[in-house]
Amino acid sequence: MTALPAPGSTSRTQIKRLPEKTVVDREIAYAILDAGLMAHVAVVTDGQPYVVPVGYARRGDEVIFHGSSASRLFRTLADGAPTCLTVTLLDGLVLSRSLFESSMHYRTVMALGTCRRLEGDEEVAALLDLSESLMPGRTTEARHPLPQELKATITLALLLDEISVKVSDGPPDDTDADLVDPVYSKIWAGCVPIVESLGEPVADDLASGVPLPDYMRTWSRG
Ligand SMILES: Cc1cc2nc3c(=O)[nH]c(=O)nc-3n(C[C@H](O)[C@H](O)[C@H](O)COP(=O)(O)OP(=O)(O)OC[C@H]3O[C@@H](n4cnc5c(N)ncnc54)[C@H](O)[C@@H]3O)c2cc1C
Repeated sequence: MTALPAPGSTSRTQIKRLPEKTVVDREIAYAILDAGLMAHVAVVTDGQPYVVPVGYARRGDEVIFHGSSASRLFRTLADGAPTCLTVTLLDGLVLSRSLFESSMHYRTVMALGTCRRLEGDEEVAALLDLSESLMPGRTTEARHPLPQELKATITLALLLDEISVKVSDGPPDDTDADLVDPVYSKIWAGCVPIVESLGEPVADDLASGVPLPDYMRTWSRG
């Protein structure tokens, strides 16, 4: 593993609200990142914050993602604007005996920093890594990016040096009063898991007679 600081160990990433949900293990942070497909990336332009969802992959100690050269988000980040990237895995609904204590099970990673623009061979390698992470096996048969497609693309890497991790799990956290209340102590409480899954692949018209590639048979979520 790396010599980067532990999650939550900087003044900006120290979790203050419900600190018992803090995770300081970088391996757990990376496992969460490896389990996700979508990140939310923040950028401020003209004083207005925007939070943009993107596909991403972790590559070593960096998260990589890509977008259009015409995109405000990507141009601003490529110019060195500070950002905050979050990945959230939603694991369940928590039904407590009060609405106030009801919550969610989740695993989140938040990364702060400034992106590095990838170019040349490094960009091509990152784009192939991104494709392989999202669609394992696909780079073996789909066409790779053309020069004009690379020109239309900004590929960014965010170093995971300043991160925090928060994990919410366990049973409902009811107040002592609700646990003995004659009405609320008798209602159902607990957790409803949320499980992400992949549906049955649907071929387009041109691929209707083409067998499903073997690499897709191993794909799964949840
Ligand atoms: C699916 C989901 C639903 C949620 N619903 C609610 C809700 O309805 N209301 C609510 O108040 N909170 C909710 N949370 C928790 C929320 O994400 C924040 O943790 C919480 O609001 C405290 O934010 P803060 O900035 O005041 O915390 P602080 O503890 O002051 O934040 C300090 C530092 O802790 C880190 N940090 C804070 N939150 C997270 C996080 N989630 N993941 C990783 N690092 C973090 C950051 O580095 C941040 O700079 C939800 C979280 C998830 C994932």
